[in-house]
Amino acid sequence: MTTRTYDAIVVGARCAGSPTAMLLARKGYNVLVVDQAIFPSDTISTHLIHPPGVAALQKWGLLDKVVATECPPIETYVFDFGPFTISGAPGTAEAPVAYAPRRTVLDKLLVDAASEAGAEIREGFTVEAVEVEDGRVAGVRGRSRSGGTVTERAQVVIGADGRHSVVARTVAPEQYNEKPQLLAGYYSYWRGLPMEGRFETYIRPDRGIGAWPTNDDLTLVIGGWPVAEFYANKRDIEGNFLKMLDLAPSFAERVRGASREEKFVGTAVFNYFRKPYGPGWALVGDAGYNKDFITAQGIQDAFRDAELCATALDETFTGARTFDVAMGEYQSARDQQVLPMFEFTTLLATLEPPPPELQQLLGAVHGNQEAMDQFARINSGVTSPADFFAEENVQRILDGAAQPTG
Ligand SMILES: Cc1cc2nc3c(=O)[nH]c(=O)nc-3n(C[C@H](O)[C@H](O)[C@H](O)COP(=O)(O)OP(=O)(O)OC[C@H]3O[C@@H](n4cnc5c(N)ncnc54)[C@H](O)[C@@H]3O)c2cc1C
Repeated sequence: MTTRTYDAIVVGARCAGSPTAMLLARKGYNVLVVDQAIFPSDTISTHLIHPPGVAALQKWGLLDKVVATECPPIETYVFDFGPFTISGAPGTAEAPVAYAPRRTVLDKLLVDAASEAGAEIREGFTVEAVEVEDGRVAGVRGRSRSGGTVTERAQVVIGADGRHSVVARTVAPEQYNEKPQLLAGYYSYWRGLPMEGRFETYIRPDRGIGAWPTNDDLTLVIGGWPVAEFYANKRDIEGNFLKMLDLAPSFAERVRGASREEKFVGTAVFNYFRKPYGPGWALVGDAGYNKDFITAQGIQDAFRDAELCATALDETFTGARTFDVAMGEYQSARDQQVLPMFEFTTLLATLEPPPPELQQLLGAVHGNQEAMDQFARINSGVTSPADFFAEENVQRILDGAAQPTG
């Protein structure tokens, strides 16, 4: 039964969906958010939020709530390449640190913020079909855990429903820049593994390891191997994980001295861009653009999509611009911003040794604090890899005189 027509229905209530709904609701629109999960809810994802993502939380008035959960700030990024280590500050004066709140904490906080902004939230509601009328998306059909099937209508249906998006599946958008799965990553949580404000990563042949602190005095440790080893290594995840840690012996010793508190979870993901709009629909977050998690960009990318998409839809609803013009700008702004990071991320995710020129550059970065901060800032998404790897900047670093790039 159809009850009412919303300005927007958002499918998915995590990092992309709730902020999009919140921003639209704050502008006074009628927004329905549905998610099959009931929050607080965990998901297969680690949760490092680099300084640009933290800045978005601050702008939205949500950072204090994250800090209040006693999630520790992360001030330094450490990249251990074996022969040498690069250690730098990931942020800017305005947003100097990263945080890594558990998804049970972060996503609940985002859902509540959307609700407080006036969005209607329906948890435990699964969208079974996207309704299309005369070539235009008109609403969704779905079912709550307790009730029967309902249809809801909206001017626009926003797919914030992740990598397996039912909205994207229905509208079959153009997909581009596709790359296969590259890395299989697994993670768990340890108690008694102090990080003292550091994100640590260990880069070894065919292996990458990362660790950082989160809520409840726990430390997350994630490690990955090439996807070619995915199925073989699945037979003994813990054994293979510990063997991998042994490639960084002093870190392995710290982990062995701590206690693992949760089971291992992990996955491998496809890399793609999708056109994020069409008649009556939009995509935000992983539904529209996905990349390997090795550089931990997904949450802040979802936040950026929420801002860009909500702004474009507002312009459409107010008649300031046509849907196609406003949403076309959302797509081009997204693509322009993320493409260099996408290339950098998918290069790292191969876990192949850096090409000789990059090795030479990293050697020159090592020990030059300004250049090490720059390197930390490309990994955090503050500085575009395009700027860092620009000929002039590379030459400056090789000459031993790095200047800030952003
Ligand atoms: C192993 C791993 C580690 C990662 N680590 C990091 C990291 O450290 N930092 C970082 O920034 N990013 C990380 N990412 C990426 C990050 O998880 C994603 O980019 C981010 O979660 C995207 O948010 P989203 O809202 O687009 O989608 P999701 O978080 O996937 O949320 C989609 C939501 O849609 C709902 N949904 C789906 N289908 C339906 C339906 N039919 N009906 C109703 N609801 C539906 C789901 O229940 C879900 O709640 C990692 C990813 C992986 C896989």
